[in-house]
Formats: sequence, structure tokens, C-alpha cells
Amino acid sequence: MSWDRQIILKSPKEIAIMREAGRINALALQAVREAARPGISTAELDAIAEEVIRSHGAVPAFKGYPGPYPYPATITASINDELVHGIPSEKRRLREGDIVSIDCGTIYKGYVADSAFTMGIGKISPEAQRLLEVTERALYVGIDKLRAGNRVGDVSAAIQHYVESHGYHVTREYTGHGVGREMHEGPSVPNYGLPGRGVMLRVGMVIALEPMVLVGTPKTRVLPDRWTVASADGSLTAHFEHSVAITEDGPVILTVV
Ligand code: MG
Ligand code: MG
Repeated sequence: MSWDRQIILKSPKEIAIMREAGRINALALQAVREAARPGISTAELDAIAEEVIRSHGAVPAFKGYPGPYPYPATITASINDELVHGIPSEKRRLREGDIVSIDCGTIYKGYVADSAFTMGIGKISPEAQRLLEVTERALYVGIDKLRAGNRVGDVSAAIQHYVESHGYHVTREYTGHGVGREMHEGPSVPNYGLPGRGVMLRVGMVIALEPMVLVGTPKTRVLPDRWTVASADGSLTAHFEHSVAITEDGPVILTVV
């Protein structure tokens, strides 16, 4: 885990630019949400997101991101047991009853916004619906703790407690993170931890907070494409993320329209 990444505080001027990056990113995600339906391929969703981002004079942040090989797309589209980093493909078509997690990053005037959501395709099972609701609420439980003077562990513990009190699991292997000049800056913000521990939060930090929740196990596996991360037991997963600025007045979500 990258605890050693640099923490870079942002000025109000920089946060204003990041707000615009976040707005563009939110428009891209909104367009994907509106297009997602049974039969559409994840590659088609990817093209929609890229078009929105580029039409606003911005650049996809994920494309070319270093990993096992440079990430080849604008979004990640992770279906059902896939937790994160699913690569869009013409061959992957959404089906009625799927849940799909879409993650997207945008670079605007040199600043990065990072956000994700999970949605159902058509009618989904009550269990899947509950997973989506708990994971999204866990994000807001965490966001409420993003206040100067709190510590990273306060945020992490709140997310973990909320998720586990609903019988689900949080990943131990992937974390939230600072965001701004780079997609991944310090501090790392895990979805598990102890109150009172870790880096103290300060005004000017911008955190991409991202609960990643699994129904059956905290354990994951990487698929043969070497990017896609799925639950180890094949159980359903969900992922919600916002980039959030810590201001004098508390947390401000940047990745909204
Ligand atoms: Mg993300
Ligand atoms: Mg992120």
C-alpha cells in the first residue's frame, strides 16, 4: 500500500479547477448511467464517457495509466463479482439483472477528478439492491468524517463499521487516496482502520474516498487480463467514489454536476 505517496495541499484556486474537473467527470458518468441498459457493450459505454470528457477540453485520466500494461480505456466497467478495474470490451454486454461498477477519471487544466458508482441493469435482485444502497451510504458515512482535525483512521473505521454492521466486507487490498495533481497522491485512505490513527486531515487535502464492498469475503483475485479485480469467491461487489475537498467549512464533494 502506498502510504509513502506525497500529500499535496491544494489552494482554493486549485480546488476551484478541481471542481470543474469533477463536474466534467460527473457529466461523463451521468452519460454512461443514462446509456447503460441490457445489450449495450462496456466498450460503447467507454466511448460515451471519452466523448463527454474530450468535448469539455479535458482528458481521460485512466487511459495509459501504468499497471501490468498501460490501462487501455477511459472508464473501468466491472460487472457483478468484478470489484474494480474491469476493462471495457465489445464482447462484454450488460444483461438484465447485472450490477455494473463504472469508475472514471478526468484531467482538466492539469488536475485530476476521480469518481465511481455502481448501478443495476433493469430489474436486480433484492440482495444486489441492498448491496448498492449500503455501499453508497458507506461513502457518505466516510465523507462526513473528512474534516480537518480528524485522522484517516476515523474515516476508515466509520466506513468499515458501517459496511460490516450490514454483514458485508471491505477490501483490504485497494484504498482511497489523495487526488489532484496526480491521480494517486497521499494519504492512502483504506476502507478499514482504527479511530484516532493515521495521518491528520487538514484543510486543502482532496481525498478520493472509495468504499469497495464485497458480499462474501474481503478477499479478491486478479483475472487473467491482469487488470480486472474480482471477489475471490465470485460473490457480488460494489464500489462508490467521490473526490472530496476538505475545507474550513467541512467536506465539499467535487465530482458532482
Ligand atoms: Mg476511481
Ligand atoms: Mg480512486
